Amino acid sequence: MAKRKIEFYKHNIDAGDIKRACGVLNSIFLTTGKVVEEFENKLADYLKVKNVIGVTSCTAALHLSLLAWDIGPGDEVITTPMSFCATANSILHVGARPVFVDVEKETGNINAGLIESKITEKTKAIMPVHLYGQMCDMKRIRQIADKYKLIIIEDAAHCIEGVRNNIRPGQLGEAACFSFYATKNITSGEGGAIATNNNEKAELLKKLRLHGIDKSALERYTKQYQHWDMDVLGWKYNMDNIHASLLIGQLKRIELFWRKKERIARQYGNAFRDNKVISLLKNMPNSKHAHHLFTIQIEMNKRDAVLLNLQKRGIGVAVNFRPIHLLRYYKNRFMYKEGDYPVAEIIGKKTISLPLYPKLEDNEVKNIIESVLREINK
Ligand SMILES: *Cc1c(COP(=O)(O)O)cnc(C)c1O
Repeated sequence: MAKRKIEFYKHNIDAGDIKRACGVLNSIFLTTGKVVEEFENKLADYLKVKNVIGVTSCTAALHLSLLAWDIGPGDEVITTPMSFCATANSILHVGARPVFVDVEKETGNINAGLIESKITEKTKAIMPVHLYGQMCDMKRIRQIADKYKLIIIEDAAHCIEGVRNNIRPGQLGEAACFSFYATKNITSGEGGAIATNNNEKAELLKKLRLHGIDKSALERYTKQYQHWDMDVLGWKYNMDNIHASLLIGQLKRIELFWRKKERIARQYGNAFRDNKVISLLKNMPNSKHAHHLFTIQIEMNKRDAVLLNLQKRGIGVAVNFRPIHLLRYYKNRFMYKEGDYPVAEIIGKKTISLPLYPKLEDNEVKNIIESVLREINK
């Protein structure tokens, strides 16, 4: 039976967001200015952190955060193999070495109980990832970081809305990094941000996102002309007014989006929870899951067939993630092999991500559930 295609993701940019973007395009000032500042202030309010710095991607946010906290060649950063490659790549970008710690079977998040065994003289930081939108145990990770004087840079690309034990991204870590990539919880196509309670580092990050120069375009050109200087080597990672204009309205609607996603996640959960072939990750107590991705796990020798058959039925699916250490570059460079991080590897072989977004309709959710149940029992 031919069915209408169910996209893996649909964004939520609406007419009001487009109108705001047109306002910027009809103005004189396109790059980093007042609109970026407005978005940064609103995201800081939402997250309850002191500073937000808008950048061009989460990868840029992670890279700049590592630079701002002086992580570089010779240093080691503890992170998870169960993430998108950008997480570990950012550590390589500053010349440091990613040191992987296996994940928890129940959540797919870094196993905090294994972190201490990987700490060496060279360890400078921990980079946890709040996988799929479920926060890591930040209180526990903060305790370990304090004991060994490490900094924490959170990869919160999935987790703007997440809360655990009253802690949100950016509140216990030195910095938390967000993504506004095309499929993320709110999006401007490409985009990112850093949240930090450290005012001094926030100033440095603002410099580092724009070559290392000490005055923004806004300061240089909209007021009386001022000479600028450069005292650190920065990058070209500044968010512009056009991208920021698309995000302001979405941030206002983010809880509405979240409630719709939460309802869909509950429908999936109810349909699959007691199924013998499917296992689901656990939602931790005292937590608000950001519901960026909904994944199911099935037998590894069936996974790829089910994935392809769902796609043939017109259902958008994805694999998040095949573990980073087994990507060819990492295998070749660091001699990783199968068996190094067994829990992450099992998730990588069993996982399927299903569509999860506010625009997903009830009949589509029903169709996805029926299709999954039919395919896994083939
Ligand atoms: C999407 C993603 C990133 C990278 O985000 P960009 O904005 O595309 O750079 C980093 N980490 C995780 C976990 C992601 O899912």
